Amino acid sequence: MVTNSQKRIDWHVLSPESALSKLKTSPDQGLTSSEAKTRLFTYGRNTLPEPKLRGPIQILLDQLRDFTVVLLIGAAVIAGLIGELGDTTVIIVIILLNAILGFIQEYRAERAMAALNTFAAPYSQVIRSGNSTSTPASEIVPGDIVFLEAGNIVPADLRLIEAVQLKIDESALTGESQPSEKSTAALTHSEISIGDRHNLAYQGTAITYGRGSGVVFSTGRSTELGRISALLCSKRGKKTPLQARLTHLGKSLATCVIGLCVVIFLVGILQGEPPYLMFMTALSLAVAAVPEALPAVVTVSLALGAKRMIKHKALIRRLTAVETLGSVTYLCSDKTGTLTQNKMQVGTYQLNGHRTRDLKEISKASPSISRPLLQAMALNNDAYRGEGQSVRGDPTEVALFEAADRLGFSKPEMEKKLPRIAEIPFSSERGKMSTLHRGEDDEILVFTKGAPEKVLAGCVHEWKRGELIPIDQKAALAAAEAIATEGFRVVAIAHKRIRHLPLILTSNSIESELTLIALVGLIDPPRPEVKSAIKLCQSASINVVMITGDHPATALAIARELGIVHPTSPSQELHGVVLTGKELTQLSLSEFESRVKDIRVYARTSPEQKIKIVQALQDLGEVVAMTGDGVNDAPALRHANIGVAMGKIGTDVARKAAHMVLLDDHFATIVAAVSEGRCIFDNIRKFIKFVLTGNSAEILTLFLSSFLGLPMPFLPIHILWINLVTDGLPGLALVAEPAETGIMKRAPRNSNESVFAHGLWQHVLWAGLFIAGVSLSIQAWAYHGQSAHWQSMVFTVITLSQMFHVMTVRSEQKSFFNQGFFSNLPLLGAVLFTFILQMLTLYVPFLNKVLKTKPLTAQELMICLAVSPIIILAVECEKWMVRRGFIYQQTKDRSAAEVRK
Ligand code: ADP
Ligand code: MG
Repeated sequence: MVTNSQKRIDWHVLSPESALSKLKTSPDQGLTSSEAKTRLFTYGRNTLPEPKLRGPIQILLDQLRDFTVVLLIGAAVIAGLIGELGDTTVIIVIILLNAILGFIQEYRAERAMAALNTFAAPYSQVIRSGNSTSTPASEIVPGDIVFLEAGNIVPADLRLIEAVQLKIDESALTGESQPSEKSTAALTHSEISIGDRHNLAYQGTAITYGRGSGVVFSTGRSTELGRISALLCSKRGKKTPLQARLTHLGKSLATCVIGLCVVIFLVGILQGEPPYLMFMTALSLAVAAVPEALPAVVTVSLALGAKRMIKHKALIRRLTAVETLGSVTYLCSDKTGTLTQNKMQVGTYQLNGHRTRDLKEISKASPSISRPLLQAMALNNDAYRGEGQSVRGDPTEVALFEAADRLGFSKPEMEKKLPRIAEIPFSSERGKMSTLHRGEDDEILVFTKGAPEKVLAGCVHEWKRGELIPIDQKAALAAAEAIATEGFRVVAIAHKRIRHLPLILTSNSIESELTLIALVGLIDPPRPEVKSAIKLCQSASINVVMITGDHPATALAIARELGIVHPTSPSQELHGVVLTGKELTQLSLSEFESRVKDIRVYARTSPEQKIKIVQALQDLGEVVAMTGDGVNDAPALRHANIGVAMGKIGTDVARKAAHMVLLDDHFATIVAAVSEGRCIFDNIRKFIKFVLTGNSAEILTLFLSSFLGLPMPFLPIHILWINLVTDGLPGLALVAEPAETGIMKRAPRNSNESVFAHGLWQHVLWAGLFIAGVSLSIQAWAYHGQSAHWQSMVFTVITLSQMFHVMTVRSEQKSFFNQGFFSNLPLLGAVLFTFILQMLTLYVPFLNKVLKTKPLTAQELMICLAVSPIIILAVECEKWMVRRGFIYQQTKDRSAAEVRK
């Protein structure tokens, strides 16, 4: 294949030109779309081998490996040996039905996970037929010209053809943690290590700084990453804490249950029951009562929950996130783009000693004053007009680009006269950026823009009333602060002229001796739905914290507007609520920890500082969700309990590190996901409650009957049947239960607390005992009343009681009678279906034979129907006491999220 010939070329010793010609492509036209299609066919898709999803057959076979299935198969064999062929057949049918149910669940879960993966596919900026287009990374082919900028993950192996201060973190490939600095010059030695090939960029590595472009020379499995990824891809998903805990629990319960079964077996033998019957009973009971389905149900609920979250535009990247979401106590969110619309607009200028909203007048009356400003606004940015005439790029820059454009300073035209020859890029740490342009008579124009205090530090002059005067730093900073207090993001714009381009561009040489032209105030309106989402968080005892690179005054104005801090409280009372990045650095971790719970706004912070915030909160036992979009946010996202990345504006690096991606970048989406997470956890608890109560009812009925001097209440086959019909459809339908109404009105679940907290195990014991009591009473009554149908009656009562139980455990607190009979239709359907099945087992002669039942008389049936719902009343009493606060109190809010001051 072609891939072999690709391998032999040492791309790093070739010049960019010869690399391009070898790949038959051009740097500004790229490949044509049709050529790209042909190459896609020749070289294959640019994807790495993925851990294989299990196919349907594999899933089905896996079902048969379960411990309980092994028990059942053993039982079938023994029944066959003894000559009870009827039992053997029934057991085999039950094994198959069980396997099918398990299969349906797991198949759905696997599909749901696969759907999540396809959503997460990355895109790259590629030149095709002369246009820059956003292309799925999987469709990139050798010869494509790919743009790279800070935050991108390199989509394929590239020979660089442009590198502007480009730095790439290649630790994924080489293990080297320092980013490697890139250039385009050809190297002379072919025999050098991957880490030293400074003019190549490798698939899967992360751009940490600068920008550039390159030509793709290998894709998919033939890249350096592709060659080693065969070794990496065998890893299967790790268990979430809840899954691990439940697997462990399942094992302990299984040991308990088997112990009990042995006791039941021995007691039965001692009482003179036939050994075969006792053996089958004990075995069936073990099969029925071992909750082997628990971990599987958790996986299904989490996976389906994750799929449901996509509808709310939240993409789950790790299943753990689904269960952690429900216990989030701190929600730390970036301001720009998440809380606000990220649609910046210039709202005010401080220019030539005046505040003005519009430059139009000035640019007409005295163009010499506005000209340098408009030039800087048009030229000092990386925004560009993309497909469909929309302006793309950083919103701050887009706003400046557009404002200049409207007054006739269009960037492409300006760049013809004043081409960019060098730049020092923006980073949140530096807080400013500069571009250098060649002007007339070979003079070089420098434009710098950025946060006022950063830019002003390098300013010596300013323009005032048309004159160049020494700058009044204090007055300028005060003016910037005044604009910030009104909620504007402030950008200072400065310029200078130099004669020669220095050999090495440093901030010291370029961003000093500047002349301040203007302060520009940009407004970024809050998203409309954020305010109510924040209210919801506050009612759910979740603390909302705003993190921004903006000035504290800007941040506070927005925080007030959104209700993160109380809108009417006077500024002096807000002292402990706002912290700047500088103050944060000066505080020791322990000092910071003593204050961190009071702080609602972090201003002028850089992404690195987010880790300190996460750490301090986690040290205090809080569960932290943290948003982020840049390269430097990645460590904090990884550290947080829930790292949240942006799907639209975010970088690939942040998305890769995150647990959850917001497809629409909305803050409200996080809140919706939290609510969904709480609901999923609730439903898992309800499922456990229902299944374990049923199991304990069955065990207790069998166990107690022997002490009450009653014969075996039901036959092995009945136990298997009950297990099948109750755990099956009704259990599954319970997992689809909609969220309870008060779900965002209570405090978050403590992440360390057991699933059994808040009365679950008590419920399992008493409700199990209650159902056993009802069943045994019926047995005693019918048995002593000489009814030949007593066994079928017990069988019916215990099945139907569980059906009524499932209807009432739907809510932990709310009354069955207020819940709305039709509010979970799948469950109602499953219950009705089970009821019909039960009637069929009683009244269809063939099933009578198979399941060893007898048709009940009308009166007996009435009695069964009358006693089975009693469990509802009992559970209602429990709920009433919970509502009254008599029992199972929620641990009092650990971190009551009152709106600060
Ligand atoms: P945020 O995380 O809130 O977006 P940033 O770190 O991006 O904060 O921005 C911090 C400050 O840096 C802004 O208040 C603004 O003054 C300045 N700034 C933002 N973007 C740019 C840019 N592209 N060029 C120059 N300065 C910028
Ligand atoms: Mg920003």
